[in-house]
Amino acid sequence: MIPVNELVRGYRLYEEEYNEKAVSVLRSGWYILGKEVEAFEAEFAQALGEDCYCAGVDNGLNAIQLGLHACGIGPGDEVIVQANGYIATMLGITQNGGIPVFVEPDKYHNMDPDRIEAAITDKTKGVLVTHLYGQATRMEQIVAVCKKHNLMLFEDCAQSHFASYKGTNTGLFGDAGFFSFYPTKNLGCFGDGGGVVSRSKELIDKIKVLRNYGTDYKYHNIVPGFNSRLDEMQAGLLRVKLSHMGELLANRRKIAEAYLDGIHNPRIRMPEIVEGAVPIWYQFVINVEDQAGFRKYMLDHGVQTDVHFPTPPHLQPALAYLGHKEGDFPVAERDCKTVVSLPMMDYLSDDEIRTVIEVANAYEG
Ligand SMILES: *Cc1c(COP(=O)(O)O)cnc(C)c1O
Repeated sequence: MIPVNELVRGYRLYEEEYNEKAVSVLRSGWYILGKEVEAFEAEFAQALGEDCYCAGVDNGLNAIQLGLHACGIGPGDEVIVQANGYIATMLGITQNGGIPVFVEPDKYHNMDPDRIEAAITDKTKGVLVTHLYGQATRMEQIVAVCKKHNLMLFEDCAQSHFASYKGTNTGLFGDAGFFSFYPTKNLGCFGDGGGVVSRSKELIDKIKVLRNYGTDYKYHNIVPGFNSRLDEMQAGLLRVKLSHMGELLANRRKIAEAYLDGIHNPRIRMPEIVEGAVPIWYQFVINVEDQAGFRKYMLDHGVQTDVHFPTPPHLQPALAYLGHKEGDFPVAERDCKTVVSLPMMDYLSDDEIRTVIEVANAYEG
């Protein structure tokens, strides 16, 4: 069977380097917030772009939560998000007492820039876009709307490490970019990890204080903070992976290009690429009418698939208190019922890629 993802393949690509790094961290005797974290923060920020800074944190959700908190998002503040995203994005808002306000996605599965203004109220404080599946949102219009209405602009980049739009990497368009280094992400570690990126050094310094109990120097606490630290082991392993990012991105691009060239089936809507965007293919997502039937067919023919994500956040029991019902966001709801993720990971053999293409092409619905 061809798995939809198999993390150990990514490990094996650079197995010796990972092992060496793990042992060196173990032998160092220093495990939380040290040289590896500092070095990773500097290297990641430098790889993303000029004049930006990074604070490593413990996971992607807390990157969002801390980042919004540091930017002043609090009780009753509305933040605009896309309706077809992942619930972590919304929880980063609700954990600060904020209210996620949903906007329908465009045909690229990202926030539809044309629909933002209609969602703005006098409580709106910011817009939080997610560059879903590894493709940048069309940003010019969003940047302009935020300027016009004096809103903060945030980016959930948990799926878009080094995905760019017109030459700029995601995470650098607004006030802050939030990253997850969860193992499945393109830049994933071997446990939990996350990061906040910003062009504002002041903001990043604030997050470095917040992530460590509000500590500015040892045993001195200037604000009530959190425990959201990135550990040395994950940071060290992330440095190894980051040093191979070019090859890893090329591996996924090769798989995506083969699918795009090879899959031609009128029952399958292929992903479209935003003009000016360079996707990193966190997921390769197609749309099919009969989601369950297609998935069963693929599995029967030895190809595992997945659905990102089957239920839109506004219909999750966890967010029922927001008062939404089925039919409120029909575009997002339809997307959830028709999206299917094909096998995409750090490495697939040519044979496996060929099989996915052949099986998908032979699907008759
Ligand atoms: C993975 C993910 C997150 C959360 O990251 P964790 O590290 O699992 O907390 C947030 N937003 C999006 C879009 C994600 O894909």
